[in-house]
Amino acid sequence: MLTFLARGKRQTGRILVIAVVVWLSQALGQAAIHTVKRGETLGVIAKKYGLNASALAAHNGIANPNRVKIGQKLTIPSKSKTLTYTIRKGDTLSTIAKKYKTTAAAIAKANGIKKPNAIQQGQKLKITIGTAKKITRPGPAAIAGATLREINRPRIRRNRWKHIVVHHSADSNNSIRGMEHYHRRVRRMENGLAYHFVIGNGVKTTDGKIYVGDRWKRQIRGGHLASTALNEVAIGICLIGNFEKTLPTAKQRTSLKTLVSHLRKRTGVPFSQVRTHRHINPKPTICPGRRFNLQSILST
Ligand SMILES: [Zn+2]
Repeated sequence: MLTFLARGKRQTGRILVIAVVVWLSQALGQAAIHTVKRGETLGVIAKKYGLNASALAAHNGIANPNRVKIGQKLTIPSKSKTLTYTIRKGDTLSTIAKKYKTTAAAIAKANGIKKPNAIQQGQKLKITIGTAKKITRPGPAAIAGATLREINRPRIRRNRWKHIVVHHSADSNNSIRGMEHYHRRVRRMENGLAYHFVIGNGVKTTDGKIYVGDRWKRQIRGGHLASTALNEVAIGICLIGNFEKTLPTAKQRTSLKTLVSHLRKRTGVPFSQVRTHRHINPKPTICPGRRFNLQSILST
């Protein structure tokens, strides 16, 4: 117990010394020196100083980052340091920016570069390390708790679903009841609403709300494609609206993306099998409209 404490103290001391050295060198705008110890890799050392291995290698002119020797002295650039970088073969502003945790735009600006694609080997660049702002991408939006429970309630047979197919309703005034009535009474589908899910648009339905259809709850086939075989294995999602004329609302887009991602996790349907009605249907159709861009919705 005592030995443990003593060792703990000594280690804390060492960490403190490193911290002070790093802080001091940064405060003074000077570089710290690190002597490579047994078992240390460039990656480990870089991490210690909040850098990445390739930046540290480049800063010390190390060609092969896998080969650092015990006792070798490395200059640790202080984080706010500006350095001069000589462009090498194969470099782009982006790859250089990545090395130094900055952005291609920041480098271009600092060096008065108008055409980022026209940089040349041997050209010298002033680079300020670590000025990149962390881009925080919003995580997938959450599905409302009650809806999520409805989606998750049915037990899904393994390999039950092969595709996820997206439709528009072709009429922005649709209501869930209206669609249900149309499918059951007019189109005479005994299972009613042909889709497994409907996403509202804020006219007669709540904007972005995911309505969980009876066919999903019962895990039965849809009625949204002109092929019984496809209906058997394709989950149907319908966004209310006419996307020949208008775009889906922002909330509809977010909900669609979230729903697709959730369904894919639960069913194992691959990304390549998330399709539009137009792309999968055996008969020509314009659904879900020419203004609907599935790839853009799923990738943003
Ligand atoms: Zn359709």
